[in-house]
Amino acid sequence: MTGLALYIHWPFCKSKCPYCDFNSHVRAGIDEARWRDALLRELDRGAAETQGRELVSIFFGGGTPSLMAPPTVAALLERAAARWSLAPDIEITLEANPNSVEAARFRDLAAAGVNRLSLGVQALDDTALKFLGRGHDRDEALAAIDLARAHFARFSFDLIYARPGHTPAAWQAELREALRRAGDHLSVYQLTIEQGTAFHTAFARGDFVLPDEEIQGALYEMTQNMLGDAGLPAYEISNHARAGQESRHNLAYWRYRDYLGIGPGAHGRLTLGGVKYANANHRAPETWLAAVERDGHGAATRTALSRDERRDEMAMMGLRLTSGIARADMRAETGGDIEDAFDRARLDALIGGGFLELDAAGLRATPAGRQRLNAVLDRLLN
Ligand code: SF4
Repeated sequence: MTGLALYIHWPFCKSKCPYCDFNSHVRAGIDEARWRDALLRELDRGAAETQGRELVSIFFGGGTPSLMAPPTVAALLERAAARWSLAPDIEITLEANPNSVEAARFRDLAAAGVNRLSLGVQALDDTALKFLGRGHDRDEALAAIDLARAHFARFSFDLIYARPGHTPAAWQAELREALRRAGDHLSVYQLTIEQGTAFHTAFARGDFVLPDEEIQGALYEMTQNMLGDAGLPAYEISNHARAGQESRHNLAYWRYRDYLGIGPGAHGRLTLGGVKYANANHRAPETWLAAVERDGHGAATRTALSRDERRDEMAMMGLRLTSGIARADMRAETGGDIEDAFDRARLDALIGGGFLELDAAGLRATPAGRQRLNAVLDRLLN
């Protein structure tokens, strides 16, 4: 049996950032003991279904899981250790916001077993942080990075570029500073305007404009070049790491391995009895909580995936990686080679156009292909 990754979703935030379309919610107060018990219950249920698997990573995402009391994190980790065997080098990541940071909390989270921190820094510029609706300023972000370095063997932080008025000169200075502060991993996202967010309304109203395509392209190129030169090349569209320091948990998604998701809105891909299932939990926190308390799990849907669906999902995830889709992985998932899995004429057209590469190792998107991956996938799969 292959390893298993575990995702735990904590859906609460202090405030809602205007660009965010994650399943995150602001509540005046919550009964944390009730939430802990529900997460433990759903974890037990998932463990019962996946007995005999080794847990290779755990990821606390959100929302803002650094708002969880450290004893809640400790209880979940203790239960996971009691229910599964843990890989000796298990990666346990928790997402944190600089405004929910205190030294004691970081120390306690590390003592509970968290060994990797992912910090939502987003910018090192106070004007940009204000625009992004972040609850922290630059000094708090820098202090949080120092604390992460002090308490965790591995840490990463996120940055968002292509903000209104963002110039290559400003981004270069910000990236230089980020590199001086970085550990072995950085996540760098281009600002996008998502449906249903406050930015979507404000952008439609004309409250702000984004840099044009030429500047966006220059900022992207600069990111690739500067981080690559500093030994942190991209291993995924938005993620950069030194060799061996990639997020193992996120690699499980991109390599289309099995993962169990617990908490509101969490998704999973689980192979049970030789069939791969897509699981999706109820998104609304209170609906999920009531379902778990009633049924022992918060699943809204569980769907067996067909061979074509698995191939499509593998392409959507694997082509995000610089290394692409390994031949052995496609064979294990679909029983066939990459050449048989996809329509040959479409594959050849995308290879001929310089967007995909196919060789003995597997199929990958070229840098040009990764820059317009949605269009490439559309051509390949639809
Ligand atoms: S803190 Fe993170 S999850 Fe919460 S609203 Fe902001 S971006 Fe979304």
